Amino acid sequence: MAPETATIVDPPERRGRSVPRPLETALPPERREALRVKLLAETPRWYVPSVHMLAPSAVGLVMIAVALSLIEHLTAWQLLTVPVVYVLANANEWTIHRMALHRRHPLAPVLYDQHTPKHHALYVTDDMAVRDRREYRLVLIPAYGLFLIFTTTLPITAAIWWLGYRNVACLYAATAIAYTVSYEWLHLSYHLPHDHPVGRSRLIGRLRRHHAIHHDPRLMQRWNLNVTVPLWDVVMRTVAEYPPPR
Ligand SMILES: [Zn+2]
Ligand SMILES: [Zn+2]
Repeated sequence: MAPETATIVDPPERRGRSVPRPLETALPPERREALRVKLLAETPRWYVPSVHMLAPSAVGLVMIAVALSLIEHLTAWQLLTVPVVYVLANANEWTIHRMALHRRHPLAPVLYDQHTPKHHALYVTDDMAVRDRREYRLVLIPAYGLFLIFTTTLPITAAIWWLGYRNVACLYAATAIAYTVSYEWLHLSYHLPHDHPVGRSRLIGRLRRHHAIHHDPRLMQRWNLNVTVPLWDVVMRTVAEYPPPR
């Protein structure tokens, strides 16, 4: 079923240097196409989609390898770090998505600006696919997002290490980075064309549907806020099926 509404933003000319405001009204396909053309035209000439897709993950994988190589005499209880950090990261993803990506948080307004009036305006439940690889810029985590993740993960890792829990620090860093890499690849896979081989997996298909429902503008601020595995959506009872409740 096609969604009856889509994301729309106030035209900048109407509000001066205004904050784009999401409305629960439809952007017709032709206006989404016009927005796509405009956003692609704004893409810097130096932007290389394959570098954006591969470089952060490659750096992340090297950091994971370094962290794991520093582990010595691992015990069973230390291994519990992995599921604990995974659940915390999942809760963190839910919270940041709700608090900073769909509300303009004063500490990081740029996160909202990239997500709600651009990513959500362009991709709606039944039209999720990128048309051009340069659109990866509108799907993948931007450089400042990666910087924010790095500058929070590093001091936490250092603090745990400094407290004497070296293995826990390494497992924390490795799990947090692996989570971020999985976020990137899963989110990108949801926005690939429908006939892309990656979408043939039933698991990816189900996760993609969960995220596509989040892309209904009537639901985006409250429902299906996990982009990876919807664990915290289940805990917080924010799983929406389709069609949405009236
Ligand atoms: Zn998305
Ligand atoms: Zn969102």
